[in-house]
Amino acid sequence: MAHPGRVRPDACPGVFATHDAADGALARIRLPGGRVSAGQADVLASCAKELGDGSVHLTSRGNIQLRGLSRDTGELAARLTSAGLLPAPAHERVRNYLASPLSGLAGGLVDVRDAVFELDRAVCARPELAALPGRFLFALDDGRGDVSGEDADVCWRALDSATGAVLLAGRDTGERVPFAGAVDALVRKALWFLEVRGSAWRVRELDLPLGERLPTSPGVPIGPFTRDDGRAGVVGAPVLGQLAAADLRALGEVVVTPWRSVVVPLGLDVPGLVTDPDTPGLGISACIGRPGCAKSRADVRADARAVMRRVPAGVRMHFSGCERRCGRPHEPHVDMLAGTEEYQKGTA
Ligand code: SF4
Repeated sequence: MAHPGRVRPDACPGVFATHDAADGALARIRLPGGRVSAGQADVLASCAKELGDGSVHLTSRGNIQLRGLSRDTGELAARLTSAGLLPAPAHERVRNYLASPLSGLAGGLVDVRDAVFELDRAVCARPELAALPGRFLFALDDGRGDVSGEDADVCWRALDSATGAVLLAGRDTGERVPFAGAVDALVRKALWFLEVRGSAWRVRELDLPLGERLPTSPGVPIGPFTRDDGRAGVVGAPVLGQLAAADLRALGEVVVTPWRSVVVPLGLDVPGLVTDPDTPGLGISACIGRPGCAKSRADVRADARAVMRRVPAGVRMHFSGCERRCGRPHEPHVDMLAGTEEYQKGTA
């Protein structure tokens, strides 16, 4: 079995088990399919402003992090619970679900919006699944091949309007399951993983013969889009994935994508978001760096901002303050690693 010497559990933060950062406690709030209602956006904005650093930080799994919190997160947990954002405390760190962000709005073979909430309820109803590693990832792809490219541990991907493929670690298992059985299939795979995982955190760490990849598409394009019902929506990206609390409140209902952008289903007035796909620096991301992280060798976000105007929009670049490279993208990118005096530039 892989990683026989690994004895520690994964340290993925949540709300009840925060990460102790240099700028205070960091809490990660799981959003099934990245979905945030207008009421939840209001609560998250209040929490960020009154309890945190004034911003919400988007993650590469379509979740939100709050930083600069008190170590006692009782008040935060109470507010999130009242907003339906912490429905199952025992399962909070395993509620990691990607879903095609534009599903039900524009394109796609099926609408997976309800299925992702059904999946969340099914996972939280199984006490044994609370033992999944916090890194384990579920995905529901509506057929466009966006989130199935994120190498989720278990994924159902629509092949037509009725049937889909079951993927493990982003690879086709050959198993075909109707849409109505997608949630059951993913729960069964998660239970199987618990039985066989040993010390593994991810399916890809198992010594399994894995199938082929299905063709994928790269995320959701930045900019306005026309919904299937003829109305207008927009996809925008906050600079370096950091959105001011007031802007989140003004946006209202959003879908957070795994590519540090948000879908705003209705309306084109989107404060705090870059919506022009040709904006220089649009492809730049960065870990939190100094002063938020004690491990960082540089203020990487300031350094990233300093070069933004000179980096064409199509260039994917990630700045890291140390070798952990937190938040690095899955897709090929320019790797900017802070050294003691200058950055080491590479490709990854
Ligand atoms: S990559 Fe290193 S410096 Fe950056 S947030 Fe992660 S641990 Fe901190």
